[in-house]
Parts: sequence; C-alpha cells; structure tokens
Amino acid sequence: MPGGHSQTLRPFLWRAERLYPDTEIVSRTHEGRTRHTYAEYADRTAQLANALDEYGIERGDRVATFCWNHTRHFETYFGVPSTGAQLHTINPLLPDEHIQYIVDDAADEIVFVDASLAPKLAGAADGAAEFDDVDFVSMGSSEIDALDATPYEEFIADQPTDYDWPDLDSDQPAGLCYTSGTTGKPKGVEYTQSMLWSHTMASQTPQGIPMEDSDVVMPVVPMFHVNAWGMPFTATAAGAKHVYPGPSPDPADLAALIEEEGVTVSAGVPTVWLGLQEYITGGNDVDLSTLDTVIVGGAAAPRSMIEWYDDRGVEVLHAWGMTELSPIGTVSHLTSDLRDADYETQVDKRSKQGLVVPGLEFEVIDENDEEIPWDGEAFGELRIRGPWVTQEYFARPDASEEGFEDGWLKTGDVVTVDEDGYIQLVDRTKDVIKSGGEWISSVELENAIMAYDGVSEATVVGVPHERWQERPVAFVVAADGVDREALVEEIEAGLREDYPKWWVPDAVEFIDEVPKTATGKFSKKDLREQYADQSLVEGSVPKNDAPEQE
Ligand code: ADP
Repeated sequence: MPGGHSQTLRPFLWRAERLYPDTEIVSRTHEGRTRHTYAEYADRTAQLANALDEYGIERGDRVATFCWNHTRHFETYFGVPSTGAQLHTINPLLPDEHIQYIVDDAADEIVFVDASLAPKLAGAADGAAEFDDVDFVSMGSSEIDALDATPYEEFIADQPTDYDWPDLDSDQPAGLCYTSGTTGKPKGVEYTQSMLWSHTMASQTPQGIPMEDSDVVMPVVPMFHVNAWGMPFTATAAGAKHVYPGPSPDPADLAALIEEEGVTVSAGVPTVWLGLQEYITGGNDVDLSTLDTVIVGGAAAPRSMIEWYDDRGVEVLHAWGMTELSPIGTVSHLTSDLRDADYETQVDKRSKQGLVVPGLEFEVIDENDEEIPWDGEAFGELRIRGPWVTQEYFARPDASEEGFEDGWLKTGDVVTVDEDGYIQLVDRTKDVIKSGGEWISSVELENAIMAYDGVSEATVVGVPHERWQERPVAFVVAADGVDREALVEEIEAGLREDYPKWWVPDAVEFIDEVPKTATGKFSKKDLREQYADQSLVEGSVPKNDAPEQE
C-alpha cells in the first residue's frame, strides 16, 4: 500500500521537526562543535534532497557515504532514502579491493566523503575502473582536489528548504550495507523502508533500546556500518538530542562529549567502553553522572565491564545483532521476576546476549538438525527471522543459498538458550575450537581471561595440532607495567580451576594489540594465519594430557 499508509522513515523526522524544532543535533569536528536544531536539520535535509534531484539522482539510484559520525552524514540518513534513493554506507576501514568491489556491485552514482578519509578513498579509486562513473562530494566547505569533489555546503547551498517528499512503498530499498566478509567477497544487505521502520519501532519498545525526548543520544558505533545500529533513526523517533562524536574519537573526546553535552545513552563495541574505562582508571576524572545506559554489542561485553560501569551508576545493556538484522536481535534486559534476584544472578543474565526483541522469532538447530532444549547447556546454530531480517544477500544467489534455509537466516552464531529464554553466544561456527573430538568455546575463554587485572584485551584461537586437531592458544594484551610471568601463572591456575582441563590454553602469548576487522571485531583469521606456521603448540604434549570427556 503506497503513500501515507506505508511503513517509511519520513514520518519520524516529520514528527521530530514539528514537536521538537529546537532540540539539538551536535557534532564534534576538528574545529570544534557544530549545533543544529531539528528545524534546521529538516531544512538542510530538504536542501540535500533537492540537490540530489538536480544532480540527477532518481528513485532506486544508490548514493554512497564514506564518512565518520557527524551531522552531515546524519543528513544523508533521511535526505537520501526519503527521496526514494538508496543510501549505501561504505566502511572506510575495508581494504581497497573490497571498496572497489562494493562500489561496483552497488553501482554507486555519487559518494559523499570526509576530507580526513579522502586519501583512503582516493587510493582505492586511483586507476580503478569501478570508479569511472562515480562523482564525489566533500563533506565540508572545502574541495578535495584528489577526488575533484564538490564541497557539500556548495552542493546544497542554493536549494530550497522544503521538498515535495514522494509517497514511497514499504518495500522501496532505502539502505545498503556490506558485511565485512571475513572470508571471500563482502555481501550486501539491502534495507527496505519497512525494515528500517520496523527496526526503529522495535528498538523503541521497552525490550529494545528505548529512548525519550529527554535523552541525549551519542552513537559511537559507526554510521558507516549497519546505520549505527539504527540509533540515528530511533533517536529521531523519540525526538531526542543527538551527539555525533566525529572523526576517530578517542576516550578523551568521548569523555568531553559525555560531560559537556550531558549524554544519557550511548552505544559502541566493547573496545570503546574498555577504552573509556582505562582512561578513567588511568587517572582521568570523568563525570559520568548523566550517563544512564551504554548499549554494548558487536562482540561480547565482558562481565567485568558490566560490573565496573554498574559501580559508577551506568547500566550496560548487552545487545546482539548482525548486518543482516538491521542489526538488533536481542537485548539483555532483566525480566521482571529477576529484578529481585541477587546481584550475581542478575549479572549472569545481563552478561548473556539477551532476550529476543519482540517481532522476531528464532530457533536453534544442533548438529543432528534437531531443535535444542532451552536448558542453558545444549547448543546449536541460531536461526532467526522477522520483519527487519533480510531474506537474501544483494545480487548474490550463491551466498543467499548458503545463508538461508526455509526462510530463516542462518546466523553462523553458536548459542545456548536458558530456561528463561536468554540467548548466550558461545562461539561463531567458524571460531569454535575442536580439540580431541571435544568442543571449546573461544568466547568463554576470552571473557574469563579478560576478567583478570592486568589484561587489556585477550583473544583465543584454535591452532592446528598433530594429535588433538586443534588446541587453544591465548593472545593477551597486557596493561602497562604488569609482571607478565606472574599474570600467565595466575590465568592458567584460574582457568584450571574453573574449566575442564583440556580447555586451558596450551600457550599464552603476549601481543601489542589484537588485530581488528573493519567492524572492530577481533580478527582471529589474522592471528591464525600469523601463527599457523610457527607451531606454537604443534608437537608439544598438551599440558592437560588427553582431553578426555568430563
Ligand atoms: P561483520 O563484522 O562480519 O560485518 P556484523 O557486524 O554483522 O558482521 O557482526 C555480526 C556478528 O557479530 C554476529 O554474528 C556475532 O557473531 C557478533 N556479535 C554481535 N553482537 C555480539 C555480542 N553482543 N556478543 C558476541 N558477539 C556478537
């Protein structure tokens, strides 16, 4: 059903503009902060839409961005899809060949690019036929010579501040994002108007990541990946104040924004919050009193982090999602009957990935193709479906064939479900460590190791082993000044006490930094490749002797 009866993004902005014309959208830039109201934002968004029309963008055309989180990027979030065009956010951390591939795959007409990211894009575009028909707009007031880019402010300058927004169908493509594809080519996920609409509405339920008009919302999670978890849309639906942290924010930048703008809700991957934690424990006094909630997802939120923020009055809401889910699937709220439970029990639950958001259905299928019982022990692959879950990959029948079954998205995540319905991710199908016919959760070991004082980051990978197929090896980033030998002893002794003996890693290696993927996840592939030849454990007799069943 077209028009005002469809599920589209436009009414969220319409409401915010009418009800909250003076509420602010703040953005950190290298020159200081910019401030716009929703009224000004709506005007500028209309100018952008008019400029795109004049440029020749038509319904269904793809408009790309290559940007950090800032107000102009946010202008494209409503300005592009509400004209009927499709917003393709490109992750600037991808390798050049992936950028070339996705620009070509998406047939992008025009790319909006930050000056600070222009060298990276110019490098990817240099001599690449994929960019032959692409024009560039620089996200600022100055030109970028290398890309022959028109400044954004010039692009929209003379345009009218109102726009005759078209009636769009619910299934009109509105967004496009590529998963970073740890192996093989990146896979595109297309978001329709109604997927983004229903994701926003589900986010706004008490079981999602709800916001109010009194909230000050700072998405640290990048706008170049899965729409910053939909937060710019959810915050607009609520009429909340937005705070965008700009180019490569460090903990000091985030602390200043939290204190000075009164941030109440923020979101990011665990490394962001561990960074802030270390900044504060390192002696920097940061006033977190306005901050009610941080949404942590993309990778598991360590229990120790949840407790640390609890002690400072900040609730960590652990969430799980995927590019294919626009992205939110579960959030770890406490059910009402757990609100009186002791703190330990509550943190046990909150450390899990959480309860499925209303609107979605899931099933968990084990190796025998059977649904697992909800007992917190049995595990299998999580499959999920619902209004904001994609049903195929963009123009990739091969990947779609592999990734979906009977209408379910096969997530590639291995999970348990407990009696209360809390989902816990125990591994990714590709990261599970298989040792002597037994199965070891790399994620659980990582969380356990990261709970030790003196450990900044840790990751555990399966390294090939002659006798046991694979053995776990832990890679640890130690905090400054730590006695490493004592730390290894402490970790090994602790793990031996808490886990079956064959779970204890055969080696604990210190590294300066855990390699990260383009979406900030630990890149186990890199470590596996790096260490595969070095036979860290090969030939050695595992300390744990035979990994017999326990
Ligand atoms: P990519 O980084 O490959 O583009 P996504 O950004 O879509 O992929 O990441 C989705 C994956 O991230 C999930 O399938 C899951 O493995 C992992 N993930 C997301 N949230 C969490 C979480 N809270 N805990 C653990 N893993 C998570």
